[in-house]
Amino acid sequence: MTTALTSTPEAYQNIVIIGASIAGHETANHLVPNLPGTYRILLIDARGFAWWPITILRAVVVPGWEDKVSIPLTTERVFKKGSPHQVIAPNKVLQLKADSVILEKPFEGSTEIPFFRCVIATGASQELPTMPAWDDSEDQFVESLRRSQRDIERATKVVVIGGGAVGVEIAGEIASHHPNKKMTLIHKDYGLLQPTVPLAKSEPLKTISEKVIHSYSSPPTDPRLSLELQRICDELGIEVILSDRVIMPSSSPTTPISELSESQSELASELGSTSASALQKGKVAWDGSFGLQPQIVHLTLESGKTVEADYVYPGCGMRPNSQIVKNVDPGALDGGLIRVDKHLKVQSTSPDSIFASQVYAIGDVCSCPGLKIAHGALWGAQKTATNIMNEIKGKVLSEYSLGWLSGLSLPMGMNEGAGMITFGWLGTWVFGSKWTVRMRGKTSGTERHFVGRFKGEQEFEIKFDF
Ligand SMILES: Cc1cc2nc3c(=O)[nH]c(=O)nc-3n(C[C@H](O)[C@H](O)[C@H](O)COP(=O)(O)OP(=O)(O)OC[C@H]3O[C@@H](n4cnc5c(N)ncnc54)[C@H](O)[C@@H]3O)c2cc1C
Repeated sequence: MTTALTSTPEAYQNIVIIGASIAGHETANHLVPNLPGTYRILLIDARGFAWWPITILRAVVVPGWEDKVSIPLTTERVFKKGSPHQVIAPNKVLQLKADSVILEKPFEGSTEIPFFRCVIATGASQELPTMPAWDDSEDQFVESLRRSQRDIERATKVVVIGGGAVGVEIAGEIASHHPNKKMTLIHKDYGLLQPTVPLAKSEPLKTISEKVIHSYSSPPTDPRLSLELQRICDELGIEVILSDRVIMPSSSPTTPISELSESQSELASELGSTSASALQKGKVAWDGSFGLQPQIVHLTLESGKTVEADYVYPGCGMRPNSQIVKNVDPGALDGGLIRVDKHLKVQSTSPDSIFASQVYAIGDVCSCPGLKIAHGALWGAQKTATNIMNEIKGKVLSEYSLGWLSGLSLPMGMNEGAGMITFGWLGTWVFGSKWTVRMRGKTSGTERHFVGRFKGEQEFEIKFDF
């Protein structure tokens, strides 16, 4: 029930959505058919294009995928012709106020946009090339993917730091596309991902063929999934180093270990014989930079081991984009995540908070329970759209719950992967490559879930050759 854009901007009550990715765009899609004509959606994103995280790691490695992971973000693609709703992109929200947001660039003659309700769906950030740089145009983003494909092709020894979802997936992509490279995956935990039960050496993991275990809450990850991913790593020739961390050097330029600063030399001597022998041979220490290295460098681990690499991939370090909340009210943060109540409204521990039930936070940036995956972002978005409508109609708000089904699947190249699905109180099913490949399909839902979320006037497609 939308009306044509005949009114002045002031005639509308704005629903400002910050972030036009999975959570923000889904909120808009659920609001559009139901909003009364006096309300309009302003969907804001810092980037001028939408990108599909679900296949980006393939695009980082495999040529031909770089032009299948992004779509220009325009009003015409997102909203129907004649609708009052608008996309404002690229434009970054710099500041949050009690009833308005401040933009980097003016919109309708002002950088300040008043709102009736605001939805923060700003997600999380990761280093290049896992995510586009903030200021990149779509062309620059595509070019950065081509560059990473070329660099990975040239590398002989790849080290992936972090065996969470991103680290495991990129290691699998590289190993299956370039089977002759030496691959090493380093992870701080006892098993890949974040197994619920510490995988004490005295308690070996259950094998995948064993029956479902019961879980009454959604666990970070099932230990059997760690085991299955480890098995695939072995099959793909990926060396996995667990319970260890890479030491980030404090010097920036690549330095031979013999030229390390005093404090770094101290550290090297503390690490024991491995690094001491590296020092004697004049090997080159890793300088902390990611991507293709100018030569073979040595990463030092907390255990004292050193690992050789000429390509270093940052598979960890995801940070919630919660700065706009932190700036106005640190009490509204829970760790780095935006603290939300049972309705996904921002709540604060500060007595003088600006948050008074008018702002929602959803998706990867919020503190709601559950895995930080697309399913959670979509689910939170649908709940929030329903509750905004409830508020407009003066109805009681509905509470957020995880739902009875949650899970994740991790591809490791086109033909391998593993995942888990938790069926409420019934328990968790862990599956391997056959089901992962079958569930994700060859395009990992690009047409249905990425292209398909664009409901605007301007139609388009992403073509696949297979
Ligand atoms: C490499 C990778 C692979 C993944 N694979 C899977 C998978 O296979 N399956 C799965 O279910 N999940 C996967 N995920 C997780 C999934 O992508 C996230 O859970 C999901 O994208 C979260 O959606 P979101 O909308 O909350 O945040 P995001 O997708 O992070 O989007 C946030 C948006 O907010 C914008 N933004 C941020 N700050 C501002 C600001 N101040 N002003 C304006 N705009 C702003 C950003 O530009 C961005 O578009 C993966 C994630 C990554 C990084």
